[in-house]
Amino acid sequence: MSDPGPSIRWQEREVRGWGEAVRARCAVYRPDSRESAAEALAGCARDGVAVALRGAGCSYADATLNDGGRLLDLSGLDRILEFDQERGTARCEPGVTIGQLWRRAIPHGWWPAVVPGTMATTLGGAAAMNIHGKNQYAVGTFGEHVERITLLTPRGEVLECDRQRHGDLFHAAIGGFGMLGLILELTVRLKRVHSGRLRVTALAAHDLEHNLALLEAHRGDADYLVGWLDGHARGAALGRGLLHRADQLAPGEDPAGEAMLAAERQDVPSRLFGVVPKAWIWPMVWLAVKSGGIRAVNAAKFAAGLREARRPPYLQTHGAFHFLLDYVPGWKRAFLPGGLIQFQPFVPAAAAARVYRALLERTQREGLVPYLLVLKRHRADPFLMTHSVDGYSLAMDYAVRGATRERLWRLCRDMAELVLEAGGRFYYAKDAVLAADAFPRVHGADAVGRFLALKARVDPAGILQSDLARRLGVTGRVAGSPARA
Ligand SMILES: Cc1cc2nc3c(=O)[nH]c(=O)nc-3n(C[C@H](O)[C@H](O)[C@H](O)COP(=O)(O)OP(=O)(O)OC[C@H]3O[C@@H](n4cnc5c(N)ncnc54)[C@H](O)[C@@H]3O)c2cc1C
Repeated sequence: MSDPGPSIRWQEREVRGWGEAVRARCAVYRPDSRESAAEALAGCARDGVAVALRGAGCSYADATLNDGGRLLDLSGLDRILEFDQERGTARCEPGVTIGQLWRRAIPHGWWPAVVPGTMATTLGGAAAMNIHGKNQYAVGTFGEHVERITLLTPRGEVLECDRQRHGDLFHAAIGGFGMLGLILELTVRLKRVHSGRLRVTALAAHDLEHNLALLEAHRGDADYLVGWLDGHARGAALGRGLLHRADQLAPGEDPAGEAMLAAERQDVPSRLFGVVPKAWIWPMVWLAVKSGGIRAVNAAKFAAGLREARRPPYLQTHGAFHFLLDYVPGWKRAFLPGGLIQFQPFVPAAAAARVYRALLERTQREGLVPYLLVLKRHRADPFLMTHSVDGYSLAMDYAVRGATRERLWRLCRDMAELVLEAGGRFYYAKDAVLAADAFPRVHGADAVGRFLALKARVDPAGILQSDLARRLGVTGRVAGSPARA
């Protein structure tokens, strides 16, 4: 192996997916400049060694793992290079997080157009997975708000990509789960906000069909919509839950709106509901998970939701509405040692009620019930490896236990079959279970062929890999045998 250069030190260690259910041993390097990132990638290409890319590591499973190979951690490239307060655009390095971006933007009346459920996500990771928010049905995916990316390919080319220049790469690298190059820089468009708060309305849904009907009824004019389902409700109540609608406020509508644009006013207080210290929450969740108490927690949440739905709408900060879990320290420790996975089927609108009903019945029959279920509305987007459909997604979060791990994976694969038969899709930031035959069924042979042709063009030796990519059969010449660093 040739000398990777004096400044590059790959350090071998265990790396985990965010859910901590999937792990790998990788040689990791965290560059602190664009030059050292480029040097590290060039070294991998020169040595013919497979390398995976990682932002904040918020993808649940194996998207950022490369067992036995190298891992380039890009979280250190975290500078906002330019923020245009007039246009609401930001030119950023890829390791800038959604949290950094909104903190910089909100005092000027801007908010990222698309945010996920955690602000720890980096912009590079957001683009590579083409993340979605609770407003996807209205504004599309993250990539639709990216003006341009600078892509460094394993061949060493630095390509400026947008909708005109290298448009095919732009539409494939966004959502291309880090397989087509390293995003060195990107420019994103934000959206105007006139208040630091949103008006939130709660609605109760007595079953699955009602939940879906509420999403349909509100999607024409709501800024954000997100549904919660009680996974333990059965029979006539199957799929019952709550829908939260949030709307931006017009100028002057919120008397305290401008003051609430101060970044520090967005943070959630240290006690939830003014009473429970946030540090107590994860042990409480741990107890519920271990004792099988999630059924009771769900019933209590639904009952509280019925009361909330009878009350008038209330004001909530953007930070609290989007990122409440980020303010609960260490909450995922409640799921250790097994960790957690998410199964998130995206299903076209016409088939959604039938497919989701079948999934809920199947998971209940198996006695493996998700501890959390979240329903969202989506629309199609123009990206090659899209996970979006004109329909819905139902995120099903499962605690992983040693005794039931294999049965859980089998259950998810069986459920995936129902989704694929209905023309559904999956989202690789969350997926832990799909096998290689699912990849062409999700995207179609034509899209897969175009994606692999682009990969052969920019990464002919197949240097960019990950455990996810190998699981899906997306590999190049060094396929399946990443050399040790
Ligand atoms: C609590 C929680 C809630 C979430 N909620 C949502 C949600 O509501 N909506 C949603 O869409 N997602 C959601 N996610 C998933 C998360 O937004 C995605 O996994 C996102 O990709 C994570 O960004 P990251 O910076 O951690 O990237 P990583 O997970 O580190 O990497 C993601 C992918 O990007 C690639 N990559 C990273 N950096 C680069 C780069 N510079 N150039 C090229 N490729 C790169 C990696 O190889 C990998 O394939 C959630 C995750 C968590 C933990």
